[in-house]
Amino acid sequence: MPRASLHTLGCRLNQAETAIIAKTLSVRGYDIVEFGQPVDLTVINTCTVTEQADAKCRQAVRQALRLNPQTYVAVVGCYSQIGLEAIRQIKGVDLIIGNEHKLKVVDHLNGLTKQIDPVVIHSHELPQEEFTIESSGLYSFNTRANLKIQDGCNYYCSFCIIPTVRGRSRSRTFADIIREARELVEFGHRELVITGVNLGTYRNDGKRLLQVISELEKIDGLARIRISSIEPTTIGGELVRYMASSEKLVPYLHLPLQSGDDRILKVMKRKHTIAAFS
Ligand code: SF4
Repeated sequence: MPRASLHTLGCRLNQAETAIIAKTLSVRGYDIVEFGQPVDLTVINTCTVTEQADAKCRQAVRQALRLNPQTYVAVVGCYSQIGLEAIRQIKGVDLIIGNEHKLKVVDHLNGLTKQIDPVVIHSHELPQEEFTIESSGLYSFNTRANLKIQDGCNYYCSFCIIPTVRGRSRSRTFADIIREARELVEFGHRELVITGVNLGTYRNDGKRLLQVISELEKIDGLARIRISSIEPTTIGGELVRYMASSEKLVPYLHLPLQSGDDRILKVMKRKHTIAAFS
């Protein structure tokens, strides 16, 4: 049985996506082990939110190769989307996949044959349509699992590269979200954390974030639902009232306020002012 390890840099959404890649590998017969163990395959799911994040990604790739010089190395995700040339320069990388196709890494492993030059699967244009995910996440811990419902962002805050590397806001189909949620609960997860880039912009078939939450709430065996970081301007009174009365939705919000100064918020091209919080 080939052995694979996965390493995630960056946000909770990346963690959700790594877990989905892990499940697709496990279904194809890979034994998933901790990063740093001897392995045949290493998948590094990267982040590019800052220059420091880029440097950490390159460092992680080199570390993987140092620990396992013969491992087949696949570098996927946000830094692969924008830092393709820099990753290509790292000797030992076999496969680079941008954001559009990264969840299908298992289909591009070339029998784990080490490459002289990396195979690159990359498109500059990212999709704009609703999406499904043909798998569920695989987590090595029991209680909490992440649930991806949305990707991309249309806000284009001046400091943020995410709309460039993940594309415009798009939503996962409602039925597909509920299907994965049920599978995660059947697998033993008691808590789901709803994740995305800009969760509050979720729209699919007339359903919004609140409908996703209320449908999740009906799943027997699911004890807690949590919302990961959410844009302040996308939280309506309805969601707050729901939160106040819900038995499963945790009354906790992580709001990226970014600054307490309206002038700075304006320069950042944020959509809120401090009035909303004072
Ligand atoms: S809303 Fe968030 S993800 Fe979208 S551009 Fe602004 S900071 Fe980036």
